[in-house]
Amino acid sequence: MQFSDVAGQSHIKQLLIRSAKQGRIPHAQLFSGKHGHGTLPMALAYIQYLLCEEPSELDSCGHCAACRKVAKLSHPDLHFAFPFAAKDDKDIAKNYLEDFREFVLKSPYSSVGGWQEFSSADTKRPTINSATTKAILTEMSQKPYEGKLQFMLLWYPEMITHGMANRLLKSIEEPPPNTVFLLVSEEEGKLMPTLLSRLQTIAFPKVKDFDLADYLGNKAGLELEQVRELVNMADGDVDQALSLGNAQEQLAVFFPFFRDWMRGAYMAAFHESVELAETFQKWGRTQQMGFFQYGLYLIREALVFRSSNSLSRITEMERSWLEKFSGSVNPAVAESIMEALENGLKGISGNAHQKTEFMGVTIDIYRSFKLGKH
Ligand SMILES: [Zn+2]
Repeated sequence: MQFSDVAGQSHIKQLLIRSAKQGRIPHAQLFSGKHGHGTLPMALAYIQYLLCEEPSELDSCGHCAACRKVAKLSHPDLHFAFPFAAKDDKDIAKNYLEDFREFVLKSPYSSVGGWQEFSSADTKRPTINSATTKAILTEMSQKPYEGKLQFMLLWYPEMITHGMANRLLKSIEEPPPNTVFLLVSEEEGKLMPTLLSRLQTIAFPKVKDFDLADYLGNKAGLELEQVRELVNMADGDVDQALSLGNAQEQLAVFFPFFRDWMRGAYMAAFHESVELAETFQKWGRTQQMGFFQYGLYLIREALVFRSSNSLSRITEMERSWLEKFSGSVNPAVAESIMEALENGLKGISGNAHQKTEFMGVTIDIYRSFKLGKH
Protein backbone atom coordinates (compact mmCIF):
# COMPACT_ATOMS: atom_id res chain seq x y z
CA MET A 1 0.00 0.00 0.00
CA GLN A 2 1.28 3.46 -0.90
CA PHE A 3 0.35 6.78 0.69
CA SER A 4 -1.57 7.56 -2.49
CA ASP A 5 -3.84 4.58 -1.75
CA VAL A 6 -4.83 6.02 1.62
CA ALA A 7 -7.86 8.32 1.76
CA GLY A 8 -6.94 11.88 2.74
CA GLN A 9 -5.12 12.53 6.03
CA SER A 10 -2.45 14.44 4.12
CA HIS A 11 -1.12 16.17 7.23
CA ILE A 12 -0.33 12.76 8.74
CA LYS A 13 1.34 11.60 5.53
CA GLN A 14 3.49 14.74 5.52
CA LEU A 15 4.42 14.29 9.15
CA LEU A 16 5.48 10.68 8.60
CA ILE A 17 7.47 11.47 5.47
CA ARG A 18 9.22 14.36 7.16
CA SER A 19 10.29 12.28 10.14
CA ALA A 20 11.48 9.51 7.82
CA LYS A 21 13.55 11.96 5.75
CA GLN A 22 15.13 13.33 8.89
CA GLY A 23 15.92 9.79 10.04
CA ARG A 24 13.88 10.28 13.19
CA ILE A 25 11.81 7.15 13.31
CA PRO A 26 10.36 6.57 16.79
CA HIS A 27 10.83 2.92 17.76
CA ALA A 28 7.41 2.71 19.39
CA GLN A 29 4.48 4.41 17.73
CA LEU A 30 0.73 4.42 18.13
CA PHE A 31 -1.75 5.15 15.35
CA SER A 32 -4.87 5.88 17.28
CA GLY A 33 -8.41 6.32 16.01
CA LYS A 34 -11.35 4.69 14.31
CA HIS A 35 -10.44 1.98 11.85
CA GLY A 36 -12.50 3.74 9.18
CA HIS A 37 -10.30 6.81 9.49
CA GLY A 38 -7.44 4.80 8.01
CA THR A 39 -5.10 3.82 10.84
CA LEU A 40 -4.18 0.42 9.36
CA PRO A 41 -3.79 1.50 5.70
CA MET A 42 -1.62 4.40 6.87
CA ALA A 43 0.55 2.05 8.94
CA LEU A 44 1.06 -0.18 5.89
CA ALA A 45 1.87 2.77 3.62
CA TYR A 46 4.30 4.11 6.19
CA ILE A 47 6.10 0.77 6.56
CA GLN A 48 6.31 0.45 2.80
CA TYR A 49 7.79 3.94 2.61
CA LEU A 50 10.44 3.12 5.21
CA LEU A 51 11.42 -0.15 3.53
CA CYS A 52 11.27 1.16 -0.07
CA GLU A 53 14.57 1.20 -1.93
CA GLU A 54 13.78 4.38 -3.86
CA PRO A 55 11.30 6.50 -1.95
CA SER A 56 10.47 9.95 -3.35
CA GLU A 57 9.52 13.08 -1.45
CA LEU A 58 5.88 12.01 -1.63
CA ASP A 59 5.60 8.26 -1.61
CA SER A 60 7.24 4.88 -1.87
CA CYS A 61 8.19 3.90 -5.44
CA GLY A 62 5.67 1.07 -5.63
CA HIS A 63 7.79 -1.19 -7.83
CA CYS A 64 11.07 -2.07 -6.08
CA ALA A 65 11.42 -5.55 -4.58
CA ALA A 66 10.75 -4.27 -1.06
CA CYS A 67 7.61 -2.38 -2.15
CA ARG A 68 6.27 -5.45 -3.92
CA LYS A 69 6.79 -7.60 -0.83
CA VAL A 70 5.18 -5.11 1.53
CA ALA A 71 2.28 -4.69 -0.89
CA LYS A 72 1.60 -8.42 -0.59
CA LEU A 73 2.13 -8.18 3.19
CA SER A 74 4.85 -10.80 2.79
CA HIS A 75 8.03 -8.80 3.49
CA PRO A 76 10.19 -10.87 5.89
CA ASP A 77 10.81 -7.82 8.10
CA LEU A 78 7.13 -7.07 8.51
CA HIS A 79 5.58 -9.01 11.37
CA PHE A 80 1.96 -8.98 12.45
CA ALA A 81 0.09 -9.64 15.63
CA PHE A 82 -3.71 -9.44 15.67
CA PRO A 83 -6.61 -10.75 17.73
CA PHE A 84 -7.88 -14.20 16.86
CA ALA A 85 -9.93 -16.94 18.49
CA ALA A 86 -7.28 -19.34 19.79
CA LYS A 87 -8.04 -23.07 19.65
CA ASP A 88 -5.78 -23.77 22.62
CA ASP A 89 -3.01 -22.18 24.72
CA LYS A 90 -0.35 -22.85 22.11
CA ASP A 91 -2.25 -21.44 19.15
CA ILE A 92 -0.65 -18.22 17.80
CA ALA A 93 -1.73 -15.46 15.41
CA LYS A 94 0.87 -16.55 12.87
CA ASN A 95 -1.17 -19.71 12.22
CA TYR A 96 -3.85 -17.45 10.73
CA LEU A 97 -1.52 -15.19 8.78
CA GLU A 98 -2.63 -16.36 5.34
CA ASP A 99 -6.27 -15.53 6.09
CA PHE A 100 -5.29 -12.28 7.72
CA ARG A 101 -3.30 -11.18 4.65
CA GLU A 102 -6.20 -11.96 2.39
CA PHE A 103 -8.56 -10.05 4.67
CA VAL A 104 -6.36 -6.93 4.94
CA LEU A 105 -5.63 -6.84 1.22
CA LYS A 106 -9.34 -7.07 0.50
CA SER A 107 -10.53 -4.59 3.13
CA PRO A 108 -7.74 -2.57 4.78
CA TYR A 109 -10.29 -0.21 6.35
CA SER A 110 -12.17 -2.95 8.13
CA SER A 111 -12.39 -3.59 11.88
CA VAL A 112 -11.75 -6.51 14.16
CA GLY A 113 -15.49 -7.23 13.82
CA GLY A 114 -15.02 -7.49 10.06
CA TRP A 115 -12.07 -9.82 10.63
CA GLN A 116 -14.20 -12.05 12.85
CA GLU A 117 -16.86 -12.21 10.18
CA PHE A 118 -14.22 -12.97 7.53
CA SER A 119 -12.53 -15.70 9.52
CA SER A 120 -15.92 -17.11 10.64
CA ALA A 121 -14.78 -17.01 14.24
CA ASP A 122 -17.80 -15.05 15.23
CA THR A 123 -18.74 -16.92 18.37
CA LYS A 124 -15.43 -16.90 20.17
CA ARG A 125 -13.92 -13.79 21.70
CA PRO A 126 -10.71 -12.93 19.86
CA THR A 127 -7.60 -11.86 21.78
CA ILE A 128 -3.90 -11.45 21.22
CA ASN A 129 -3.10 -14.35 23.52
CA SER A 130 -0.02 -14.98 25.65
CA ALA A 131 1.54 -17.43 23.19
CA THR A 132 1.30 -14.84 20.41
CA THR A 133 2.82 -12.06 22.49
CA LYS A 134 5.69 -14.34 23.53
CA ALA A 135 6.25 -15.43 19.95
CA ILE A 136 6.40 -11.90 18.59
CA LEU A 137 8.80 -10.73 21.27
CA THR A 138 11.10 -13.63 20.46
CA GLU A 139 10.83 -12.84 16.79
CA MET A 140 11.62 -9.18 17.38
CA SER A 141 14.75 -10.03 19.33
CA GLN A 142 16.29 -11.37 16.08
CA LYS A 143 18.06 -9.14 13.58
CA PRO A 144 16.12 -7.87 10.55
CA TYR A 145 16.37 -10.28 7.60
CA GLU A 146 17.14 -7.70 5.00
CA GLY A 147 19.23 -5.50 7.22
CA LYS A 148 17.31 -2.24 7.23
CA LEU A 149 14.52 -2.13 9.77
CA GLN A 150 12.01 -4.61 11.08
CA PHE A 151 8.46 -3.88 12.07
CA MET A 152 5.99 -5.33 14.47
CA LEU A 153 2.54 -4.20 13.50
CA LEU A 154 0.18 -4.80 16.39
CA TRP A 155 -3.43 -4.49 15.33
CA TYR A 156 -5.82 -3.86 18.24
CA PRO A 157 -3.16 -3.93 20.99
CA GLU A 158 -6.02 -3.25 23.44
CA MET A 159 -6.89 -6.93 22.98
CA ILE A 160 -3.61 -8.26 24.33
CA THR A 161 -4.34 -10.73 27.11
CA HIS A 162 -4.12 -9.32 30.56
CA GLY A 163 -0.60 -9.43 31.96
CA MET A 164 1.15 -9.71 28.62
CA ALA A 165 1.09 -5.99 28.00
CA ASN A 166 3.80 -5.75 30.66
CA ARG A 167 6.04 -8.03 28.63
CA LEU A 168 5.49 -5.86 25.62
CA LEU A 169 6.25 -2.77 27.66
CA LYS A 170 9.60 -4.24 28.68
CA SER A 171 10.55 -4.81 25.07
CA ILE A 172 9.51 -1.32 24.16
CA GLU A 173 11.55 0.15 26.99
CA GLU A 174 14.64 -1.74 25.87
CA PRO A 175 14.03 -2.11 22.17
CA PRO A 176 16.12 -4.41 20.02
CA PRO A 177 18.12 -2.37 17.45
CA ASN A 178 16.47 -1.42 14.13
CA THR A 179 13.08 -2.44 15.40
CA VAL A 180 9.88 -0.45 15.18
CA PHE A 181 6.76 -1.34 17.13
CA LEU A 182 3.74 0.12 15.41
CA LEU A 183 0.52 -0.18 17.38
CA VAL A 184 -2.77 0.42 15.58
CA SER A 185 -5.48 0.96 18.16
CA GLU A 186 -9.17 1.76 18.11
CA GLU A 187 -9.50 2.45 21.84
CA GLU A 188 -6.25 3.74 23.23
CA GLY A 189 -7.98 4.35 26.58
CA LYS A 190 -7.84 0.60 27.11
CA LEU A 191 -4.05 0.51 26.89
CA MET A 192 -1.96 0.58 30.06
CA PRO A 193 -0.98 4.16 30.90
CA THR A 194 2.65 3.09 31.34
CA LEU A 195 2.62 1.63 27.84
CA LEU A 196 0.79 4.61 26.40
CA SER A 197 3.35 7.01 27.83
CA ARG A 198 6.14 5.20 25.94
CA LEU A 199 4.46 5.56 22.59
CA GLN A 200 4.71 8.33 20.07
CA THR A 201 1.02 8.86 19.29
CA ILE A 202 -0.66 10.10 16.14
CA ALA A 203 -4.42 10.64 16.44
CA PHE A 204 -6.49 10.06 13.31
CA PRO A 205 -9.37 12.48 12.72
CA LYS A 206 -12.32 11.86 10.39
CA VAL A 207 -11.50 11.75 6.69
CA LYS A 208 -12.60 15.03 5.13
CA ASP A 209 -15.68 14.78 2.90
CA PHE A 210 -13.69 15.93 -0.11
CA ASP A 211 -11.05 13.23 0.43
CA LEU A 212 -13.66 10.60 1.10
CA ALA A 213 -15.44 11.46 -2.14
CA ASP A 214 -12.15 11.29 -4.01
CA TYR A 215 -11.39 7.88 -2.52
CA LEU A 216 -14.82 6.42 -3.21
CA GLY A 217 -14.89 7.74 -6.75
CA ASN A 218 -11.30 7.13 -7.81
CA LYS A 219 -10.12 4.20 -5.70
CA ALA A 220 -13.32 2.29 -5.00
CA GLY A 221 -14.73 3.12 -8.46
CA LEU A 222 -18.22 4.13 -7.34
CA GLU A 223 -20.61 6.27 -9.36
CA LEU A 224 -20.82 9.99 -8.63
CA GLU A 225 -24.44 9.84 -7.47
CA GLN A 226 -23.71 7.08 -5.03
CA VAL A 227 -20.53 8.79 -3.84
CA ARG A 228 -22.49 11.90 -2.88
CA GLU A 229 -25.01 9.90 -0.95
CA LEU A 230 -22.40 7.83 0.87
CA VAL A 231 -20.27 10.84 1.80
CA ASN A 232 -23.40 12.36 3.26
CA MET A 233 -24.08 9.32 5.38
CA ALA A 234 -20.66 8.05 6.40
CA ASP A 235 -19.40 10.97 8.48
CA GLY A 236 -15.76 10.73 7.39
CA ASP A 237 -15.46 6.97 7.87
CA VAL A 238 -14.23 4.98 4.86
CA ASP A 239 -15.32 1.62 6.26
CA GLN A 240 -18.84 2.88 6.86
CA ALA A 241 -19.06 4.39 3.40
CA LEU A 242 -17.98 1.11 1.84
CA SER A 243 -20.28 -1.04 3.96
CA LEU A 244 -23.21 1.25 3.25
CA GLY A 245 -22.25 1.10 -0.43
CA ASN A 246 -22.38 -2.68 -0.28
CA ALA A 247 -25.64 -2.48 1.59
CA GLN A 248 -27.43 -0.15 -0.83
CA GLU A 249 -30.29 -2.54 -1.35
CA GLN A 250 -30.42 -2.99 2.40
CA LEU A 251 -31.14 0.69 2.95
CA ALA A 252 -34.74 -0.12 2.08
CA VAL A 253 -34.70 -2.62 4.95
CA PHE A 254 -33.00 -0.24 7.35
CA PHE A 255 -35.59 2.51 7.30
CA PRO A 256 -38.69 0.57 8.43
CA PHE A 257 -36.57 -1.36 10.89
CA PHE A 258 -35.20 1.84 12.39
CA ARG A 259 -38.64 3.44 12.50
CA ASP A 260 -40.13 0.45 14.33
CA TRP A 261 -37.17 0.30 16.66
CA MET A 262 -37.50 3.95 17.64
CA ARG A 263 -41.24 3.60 18.13
CA GLY A 264 -40.78 0.53 20.32
CA ALA A 265 -38.13 2.32 22.37
CA TYR A 266 -40.28 5.42 22.73
CA MET A 267 -43.18 3.37 24.05
CA ALA A 268 -40.81 1.13 26.04
CA ALA A 269 -42.36 -1.87 24.27
CA PHE A 270 -39.87 -4.44 25.44
CA HIS A 271 -41.38 -7.39 23.63
CA GLU A 272 -41.21 -5.63 20.27
CA SER A 273 -37.57 -4.72 20.83
CA VAL A 274 -36.67 -8.32 21.58
CA GLU A 275 -38.24 -9.38 18.30
CA LEU A 276 -36.20 -6.79 16.45
CA ALA A 277 -33.09 -7.99 18.25
CA GLU A 278 -33.73 -11.48 16.86
CA THR A 279 -33.75 -10.11 13.34
CA PHE A 280 -30.71 -7.95 13.99
CA GLN A 281 -28.79 -10.97 15.26
CA LYS A 282 -29.22 -12.69 11.89
CA TRP A 283 -27.52 -9.92 9.94
CA GLY A 284 -23.75 -10.00 9.43
CA ARG A 285 -21.60 -7.57 11.37
CA THR A 286 -21.04 -5.41 8.32
CA GLN A 287 -24.76 -4.97 7.88
CA GLN A 288 -25.23 -4.33 11.59
CA MET A 289 -22.58 -1.62 11.52
CA GLY A 290 -24.19 -0.17 8.42
CA PHE A 291 -27.49 -0.06 10.28
CA PHE A 292 -26.16 1.85 13.29
CA GLN A 293 -24.39 4.22 10.95
CA TYR A 294 -27.63 4.73 9.07
CA GLY A 295 -29.38 5.50 12.38
CA LEU A 296 -26.73 8.08 13.21
CA TYR A 297 -27.24 9.67 9.85
CA LEU A 298 -31.01 9.91 10.31
CA ILE A 299 -30.72 11.45 13.77
CA ARG A 300 -28.15 13.93 12.51
CA GLU A 301 -30.57 14.84 9.73
CA ALA A 302 -33.34 15.27 12.32
CA LEU A 303 -31.15 17.76 14.18
CA VAL A 304 -30.40 19.65 10.99
CA PHE A 305 -34.09 19.75 10.19
CA ARG A 306 -34.92 21.09 13.63
CA SER A 307 -32.52 23.97 13.33
CA SER A 308 -32.84 24.85 9.64
CA ASN A 309 -36.10 23.27 8.52
CA SER A 310 -34.30 21.91 5.49
CA LEU A 311 -33.31 18.38 4.59
CA SER A 312 -30.62 17.09 2.28
CA ARG A 313 -30.90 14.04 0.10
CA ILE A 314 -33.40 11.74 1.73
CA THR A 315 -36.33 9.69 0.53
CA GLU A 316 -39.97 10.72 0.91
CA MET A 317 -40.57 8.02 3.50
CA GLU A 318 -37.65 9.23 5.56
CA ARG A 319 -38.80 12.81 5.22
CA SER A 320 -42.24 12.33 6.68
CA TRP A 321 -40.84 10.30 9.57
CA LEU A 322 -38.05 12.79 10.24
CA GLU A 323 -40.44 15.71 10.34
CA LYS A 324 -42.47 14.03 13.05
CA PHE A 325 -39.47 12.73 14.90
CA SER A 326 -37.60 16.03 15.00
CA GLY A 327 -40.72 17.64 16.40
CA SER A 328 -40.95 15.16 19.24
CA VAL A 329 -37.37 15.07 20.51
CA ASN A 330 -35.21 17.88 21.82
CA PRO A 331 -31.52 18.13 20.91
CA ALA A 332 -30.40 16.65 24.25
CA VAL A 333 -32.44 13.50 23.58
CA ALA A 334 -31.14 13.29 20.02
CA GLU A 335 -27.55 13.65 21.27
CA SER A 336 -28.14 10.94 23.82
CA ILE A 337 -29.57 8.58 21.18
CA MET A 338 -26.59 9.27 18.96
CA GLU A 339 -24.26 8.41 21.80
CA ALA A 340 -26.08 5.10 22.26
CA LEU A 341 -25.77 4.37 18.53
CA GLU A 342 -22.05 5.27 18.56
CA ASN A 343 -21.53 2.85 21.42
CA GLY A 344 -23.41 0.16 19.53
CA LEU A 345 -21.25 0.76 16.50
CA LYS A 346 -18.13 0.46 18.61
CA GLY A 347 -19.42 -2.73 20.20
CA ILE A 348 -20.26 -4.42 16.91
CA SER A 349 -17.05 -3.36 15.21
CA GLY A 350 -15.28 -4.78 18.26
CA ASN A 351 -16.26 -8.17 19.49
CA ALA A 352 -19.53 -7.64 21.34
CA HIS A 353 -22.23 -10.29 21.18
CA GLN A 354 -24.62 -8.75 18.67
CA LYS A 355 -28.01 -9.39 20.23
CA THR A 356 -26.80 -8.33 23.66
CA GLU A 357 -25.28 -5.20 22.19
CA PHE A 358 -28.49 -4.38 20.36
CA MET A 359 -30.54 -4.77 23.55
CA GLY A 360 -28.03 -2.63 25.45
CA VAL A 361 -28.38 0.13 22.90
CA THR A 362 -32.16 -0.24 22.98
CA ILE A 363 -32.21 0.25 26.73
CA ASP A 364 -29.99 3.32 26.43
CA ILE A 365 -32.45 4.69 23.90
CA TYR A 366 -35.43 3.96 26.22
CA ARG A 367 -33.60 6.03 28.81
CA SER A 368 -32.88 8.83 26.35
CA PHE A 369 -36.57 9.12 25.49
CA LYS A 370 -37.55 8.97 29.14
CA LEU A 371 -35.15 11.80 29.83
CA GLY A 372 -37.00 13.89 27.27
CA LYS A 373 -40.41 13.17 28.76
CA HIS A 374 -39.52 14.79 32.08
ZN1 LIG B 1 9.90 0.96 -3.49
